[in-house]
Parts: sequence; C-alpha cells; structure tokens
Amino acid sequence: MGRREAGGGGTVTTLSSKAIKAVRKPHCCEQCNTMIQAGEPAHYDFGIWDGYAFSTWVHPECRAAAHEYATLNDLWFEDYPWFQHMDDSEHEHHGWLLEKHPVVAQRLRIPSKAKQSKAAEL
Ligand SMILES: [Zn+2]
Repeated sequence: MGRREAGGGGTVTTLSSKAIKAVRKPHCCEQCNTMIQAGEPAHYDFGIWDGYAFSTWVHPECRAAAHEYATLNDLWFEDYPWFQHMDDSEHEHHGWLLEKHPVVAQRLRIPSKAKQSKAAEL
C-alpha cells in the first residue's frame, strides 16, 4: 500500500490490512460498536493517519457494507463511512443497510418498522 493524499490534505498510510479467521481476544467493531468475540472472524487495519497511528477491528460483514456504501457514494479517506458515527437524517443509510446488510443493521440496532411492531407486542 502506498501513500495517498486525501481530499482534505490528510495523508493515510495503510501498513497492514488483513482478514483474521478467528480473533484470539475480543475487540470492539469500529463500524457497529458491538464486540467481535474471540473465535469470530474480523478484519484488522493498521496504519498512519496524519501522523497518528491507528488500528481498527471490524466485522467482515460491517467492512463489506461500509466498502459498498463508500463505492456507491464515492466516500473515501476522511469521508469514509463509519456507521456508528453517522446520522441517518444526514446520510439516510438506515434503509439501505436494512435492505442490503440486515446483519449490520441489526448490530447497529437500526429499528425496522416490522421489528418495532414486534417489540410493541412483547
Ligand atoms: Zn461490526
């Protein structure tokens, strides 16, 4: 991976990006903010962002959803989607996640209309 200039002048250097078949320790997923439990698969990235080291752990499904969303909306570098920090009123990504990536929507606790009515019955 080389050095790439981001739109806002920031520089991201990815030093490591790898799929882990089964993590040894639990990690918090940066996309959905739920735990990746020991033994579950994950994707690990490590690099330098504007001079600061970063490392992120994400679920493979969350990563795939974010990558697809970024591709669809041309969101890269500092615009890259991190679902747990995104506001639906601005991005309107909830409906898209519910339809395309229901597993991720569930982790983010995005309420679907069907689920809301079920919850009301309980
Ligand atoms: Zn996740």
